[in-house]
This record gives sequence, C-alpha cells and structure tokens, in this order.
Amino acid sequence: MGETIFSKIIRKEIPAEIVFENDKVLAFKDIHPQAPVHVLIIPKITEIETTKDINSTKHSALLGSLYDAANKIAKDYGISETGFRLVLNCGADAGQEVYHLHMHLLGGRKMNWPPG
Ligand code: AMP
Repeated sequence: MGETIFSKIIRKEIPAEIVFENDKVLAFKDIHPQAPVHVLIIPKITEIETTKDINSTKHSALLGSLYDAANKIAKDYGISETGFRLVLNCGADAGQEVYHLHMHLLGGRKMNWPPG
C-alpha cells in the first residue's frame, strides 16, 4: 500500500536533495520549486496517503514530528521570523499529485492570498 515516488526517495533508490532526516521524517527540496525555499516534509511510513487518512490516535506523535521538522527547517533557512507557508494538498481539486502525505514548506518571498 502507498508505493509512490516518495517511497523510492525514502529508500534512497532515487536521488533527492535531503535537507533533514530522522527516524520518522524525511525532508527534501521540491523538484519544481515554487518559491526560493520549497521543501517537502514527509513521514517515512507510507500508510498515510492524504490528510483524510490522519487519525489522531495513531498519528499524533508523527504529526508533531512533521511540525518540529518544519520549524527547524524554516529556522535553518533563516525564514522563521520573516514567515513561511505550510501547505497540504488533499485530493484532486487541491492538485495533489503524490499520494503519500507531504507538507510543502514555502518561503523566501512574499506569498499571495488567496492561493491559486
Ligand atoms: P502535490 O501536488 O501536493 O502532490 O505535490 C507533489 C510535489 O512533489 C510537487 O510539488 C512536485 O514538484 C514534487 N515532486 C514530484 N516528484 C519529485 C521528486 N522526485 N523529487 C522532489 N520533488 C518531487
């Protein structure tokens, strides 16, 4: 279940520019960056395909780890104080392409609202 291109990145079968890794979380640069900083933060488990699969009983610690990683990466890039955006696309209308939960960390420029 849940085999995607991100599974191959987790197993290091295809290359990625990894910026953070621990036992639960992997973060790497998006291959088509939409901002000066555009990092994808993903759980290493593959069972969560979209935000709809998140279950607070099973995944609360993991979600905390994703946010810890996002906050650390934002600090490392020097955008923690200037601001950044975290995006989780869920399903077709949101434009989700890869069905392995991932958080987009975007920053380094002024963001527009509403998003496209
Ligand atoms: P989403 O549309 O939310 O599913 O986002 C998927 C993201 O994965 C897109 O921003 C893609 O540019 C990115 N992506 C797809 N393949 C790779 C890859 N091999 N390495 C890094 N980012 C990727």
